[in-house]
Amino acid sequence: MNPIPSFDLSRQYKLIGDEIRTAASEVLASGQYIGGSVVQGFEQQFAAYTGTAECVACNSGTDALFLALRSLQIGPGDEVITTPFTFVATAEVISAVGAKPVFVDIDPQTFNLDLNQIEAAITDRTKAIIPVHLFGQPVDMTRVMTIAQTHNLWVIEDCAQATGATWAGQKVGSIGHIGCFSFYPTKNLGACGDGGAMTTNDSGIAAQLRMLRDHGQKQRYMYEAIGVNSRLDAVQAAILQVKLRYLETWNIQRQTIASRYHDLLQSIAGIVIPQDIAGGQSVWNQYTIRVLQPQGESAPQGQNRRDRVRQQLQQHQVGSMVYYPKPLHIQPVYADLGYWTGDLTISEQMAQEVLSLPMFPELEADQQEQVVYALKDSLAH
Ligand SMILES: *Cc1c(COP(=O)(O)O)cnc(C)c1O
Repeated sequence: MNPIPSFDLSRQYKLIGDEIRTAASEVLASGQYIGGSVVQGFEQQFAAYTGTAECVACNSGTDALFLALRSLQIGPGDEVITTPFTFVATAEVISAVGAKPVFVDIDPQTFNLDLNQIEAAITDRTKAIIPVHLFGQPVDMTRVMTIAQTHNLWVIEDCAQATGATWAGQKVGSIGHIGCFSFYPTKNLGACGDGGAMTTNDSGIAAQLRMLRDHGQKQRYMYEAIGVNSRLDAVQAAILQVKLRYLETWNIQRQTIASRYHDLLQSIAGIVIPQDIAGGQSVWNQYTIRVLQPQGESAPQGQNRRDRVRQQLQQHQVGSMVYYPKPLHIQPVYADLGYWTGDLTISEQMAQEVLSLPMFPELEADQQEQVVYALKDSLAH
């Protein structure tokens, strides 16, 4: 039996490498490496794909979130509500613009923000909510938008892990005021390097985003704001144009893999498996199960049951990942926000239980069976 990695980009490259090399070498031969028609072409295609009026490409998902906050003039004195159970970038950018992240606990069914707890966290300083569509699972955007409208807040969707996911038939990134995407290689639409984008239906916001990503200039050498250099380069844009044509197919393959995992895992005791919620269609950037900690058993030497299962999987040469082992509210960098362990108990519990199994479009059925066999064996230990 061959090892099964938690993720493998080389298989995709084997399938579409010719197209990628052709697209990249056309850009290389053109001499137009920054900006130009290839980048604009990608922006138009991505706006069409997400069902938004405008797409502004940039250098990363982190920059997309940062620029989104800047474009809405969120800064010192402001508060932004988000989840502590996410990649650090979501909160990091709130701090980077000088605002304060306010963490709200999550729903253990979806690993996403617990929408019942948002209103209690709103103060007169709150300016925005950043819901994260974690692992590809969409947040109930109908409810988020209702809360935001009631309290006059901006909504910035962190779609980094959810390119193509839908809520109530609409693509994520098209429902809030701004959608932020990452094209980091392991995301559903991944570049061969860094890349990101913002989507919006508001042309005023789009103009701000374009200005800020380009040193605060609308017109060359006329600087109207303190901006940054955050561009998607033309080689990446050309590669993303190729990959965008496959995205729906890949997302469907991920959904097929998720439902096969579901069938194979549903009767196994000691774990909880993820499921689509009514109204949403996940794109399964991760397939993340919970390994339940046996009642009354504390984690000896910091090693809990999930960690032991993960180690056993490794013995079977099956890769797995822990996203995320420590929620953001209790990270050292946020010590000054005044949170303590025990404040956001669901996030803390999930950090102890989550285990992401191998998930990528090219994962084959017999490999999945191998993963499940190894998991059963690991759970029996
Ligand atoms: C990947 C990711 C980001 C950041 O994207 P980069 O392109 O790596 O900067 C932000 N938020 C979430 C939830 C992510 O998974």
